[in-house]
Amino acid sequence: MNIPPPPPAPAGGTGYPPHLPGGSGGGGGGAPAAAPPPQAPPQQQYAPPPPQQQYAPPPPQQQYAPPQQQYQQPPQQQYQQPPQQQYQQPPQYAPSPGVQASAPPQPAAAAGAPVRTIRKYDAVIVDVVRRTHDASSVYFFIGDAPAYKAGQFLSIDPHQFPELKRWIEYLEMLKGKKEPIRSYSLQSAPGEKCMAICTKAEDYDPKVHKYPPVLSPLMASGSLKGREVVIGGFTGAYFIPDDISNVTDQVLHFVAGSGVVPNYGMLKDELRNNKNPRVKHVMIDVNKTVGDIILHEQLRALAKAYPDRFEFINFITREDPSYLGPGYYKGRPSTEFVRRYVRDPGSVRAYACGAAITKYHREAAKQTGTEPQPRFMESVEQIVHELGMPKPHFKKEEFG
Ligand SMILES: Cc1cc2nc3c(=O)[nH]c(=O)nc-3n(C[C@H](O)[C@H](O)[C@H](O)COP(=O)(O)OP(=O)(O)OC[C@H]3O[C@@H](n4cnc5c(N)ncnc54)[C@H](O)[C@@H]3O)c2cc1C
Repeated sequence: MNIPPPPPAPAGGTGYPPHLPGGSGGGGGGAPAAAPPPQAPPQQQYAPPPPQQQYAPPPPQQQYAPPQQQYQQPPQQQYQQPPQQQYQQPPQYAPSPGVQASAPPQPAAAAGAPVRTIRKYDAVIVDVVRRTHDASSVYFFIGDAPAYKAGQFLSIDPHQFPELKRWIEYLEMLKGKKEPIRSYSLQSAPGEKCMAICTKAEDYDPKVHKYPPVLSPLMASGSLKGREVVIGGFTGAYFIPDDISNVTDQVLHFVAGSGVVPNYGMLKDELRNNKNPRVKHVMIDVNKTVGDIILHEQLRALAKAYPDRFEFINFITREDPSYLGPGYYKGRPSTEFVRRYVRDPGSVRAYACGAAITKYHREAAKQTGTEPQPRFMESVEQIVHELGMPKPHFKKEEFG
């Protein structure tokens, strides 16, 4: 078998991505100086597409006119299920229990809370843009753009995709229950032309996972570009209140993997739409490798554009990212590290999004008589607790 040789390291470059500048634009708090790695790391192969692809989904006139053959299916095939089956979200998705537990909703007027009604929308997927080796942004055109808050999510019923039909029937038979609707946080912010999500194709390791994933590989594959879909939305209590500057001047964002998606939407809304200008944001993003950082370039660009308001910090657990400059650390954030960034633990607000222990982890641990291993969310909760932050100042969105 011919294995092609690794690509040559760019001359004097930082390794990944080749077009990234040396720093994130924010002070890193004592990170080692940038030093080029001896050779290009493998994630170079997955360098996201050039910025113009990422920032510029096709103009509306392209978006409305996908090729004819992509619209072949008659509506009654796609939308068979009665609305109450398709769009009533199961309790675990509306919103995640942790959000309610840690942040009891305020009266609607005071919190500026949006209406939580879930409606169905006919949408067209106008573009799918690869972000990492396993994650893609999916852009939707929806005729009457509905009101939503940055950080909220939409829902997608996997039953509407004919290519998943047999697969879902088989898995429903094995699991003995109907496949639920999946939720996806909005990567877009209000005011953008298209609504967008970013999906990461879940892994399947038969030694670890009981079943292969259903929807995320299809969503992330790019093959749905040009397709009509039905989406449900828009809901969730994971958003920054309009009046946050009345209570704090700092927001911490703890994110991991695809958990960066809603927080990226919130940051865009706060920074680009010039909301709460005296509030500063620090994002701590945890990933396995540099190549796994979703929306990496976009976040670096935000940090560069708003150096006085946004600091982007990365922790990489499986490799040393210090060659990328200040703000890149190996390992996981500790309470002491986070404390350096917190001005006032009594008033700072924190938003955390990422993997948490699920009922499947609990069941598996019970069978072996062990405790489930803490995941990203449990470690953030520990940090927030050790910092002495009041619990209602912490909001979380669990992706499972
Ligand atoms: C509010 C919210 C927002 C989200 N936002 C995003 C986002 O922005 N981007 C994103 O990529 N994802 C997001 N998610 C996750 C997303 O909803 C899906 O869960 C994810 O895409 C996986 O779906 P899937 O159909 O591919 O996998 P699934 O089929 O749901 O499988 C996922 C895992 O669960 C296990 N599993 C499933 N059923 C069982 C069972 N019966 N017994 C044991 N194990 C089981 C599987 O083995 C697999 O490991 C969000 C979730 C929530 C709740």
